[in-house]
Amino acid sequence: MMISAENIHFCIQKRPILDQVDLQIYPGEVLTILGPNGAGKSTLLKLLSGENTCDTGKISINQVLLQQLKPRQLAKYRAVMPQHSSVNFPYTVEEIIALGKLAHDPHSSSDQLMEEVMDITGTAALRERMIKGLSGGERQRVHLARALLQIWEDKPYARYLLLDEPTSSMDIAQQHQVLRLLRFLRQRNIGVLTILHDLNLAAQYSDKVMLMKDGKVVGFGPTSAIMTATKLSHVYGHPISVMSHPMDEKQVVITSETTSNNHTYASFKTA
Ligand code: ADP
Ligand code: MG
Repeated sequence: MMISAENIHFCIQKRPILDQVDLQIYPGEVLTILGPNGAGKSTLLKLLSGENTCDTGKISINQVLLQQLKPRQLAKYRAVMPQHSSVNFPYTVEEIIALGKLAHDPHSSSDQLMEEVMDITGTAALRERMIKGLSGGERQRVHLARALLQIWEDKPYARYLLLDEPTSSMDIAQQHQVLRLLRFLRQRNIGVLTILHDLNLAAQYSDKVMLMKDGKVVGFGPTSAIMTATKLSHVYGHPISVMSHPMDEKQVVITSETTSNNHTYASFKTA
């Protein structure tokens, strides 16, 4: 059981956007994709979710090729939260989240599942509000709830949650709540793929990290092996230092000022 992508190439108007990308997402793990703007992260997520189809290569979910799955089956296996979900209709929060029920079986206790999901995403209090009137962070919680509801029910097969910068508009406390929730999903046999910009969130919560630059994978593996100062500085083209957190030994990422007149990376100085 996994999502597997093999040898993915993708071009837009003959310009290669993804080149030879391989990846596996296993249920129970949080895999984070990191990389600068334009690296191809969102494009890859759209291919994995079946929104776009790739020129070459194979993508499968739980051993079935993506193109062999009907939309309804696909919706049972994976839920997606895109980078920008714009809703221009006068929907309430409750109506948006309820869209996640559409993939449920007729006998599912969808109402009960919806209450659970609204509870854990902190969206219950927003239920009657109009989606357009919410702050960016609140809106992201609503879209997360909608995606989560789609795959929340316990099933004998693994499900996957694909998220494109799900916390980009949230405050620090909310970001941590969401990432803790993502980690908790391993108990429900759900695998998580998330694109993040915050390197420290990624270091703290990811089981694995994939680094992308210019449409290529430049690192993929356990978080501590991939999130090194050398690799991160290279990928972002910016001086980045990595230290060990005194409490849990996880990496702490520190970004420095750009050193414009030489090529040495500024090192972190303790007081
Ligand atoms: P990321 O999410 O890593 O910031 P994207 O996957 O959104 O990057 O984009 C990767 C590259 O593909 C960028 O150079 C972007 O400009 C280009 N791109 C993405 N979508 C389109 C499109 N529909 N038409 C033309 N170029 C695109
Ligand atoms: Mg993107």
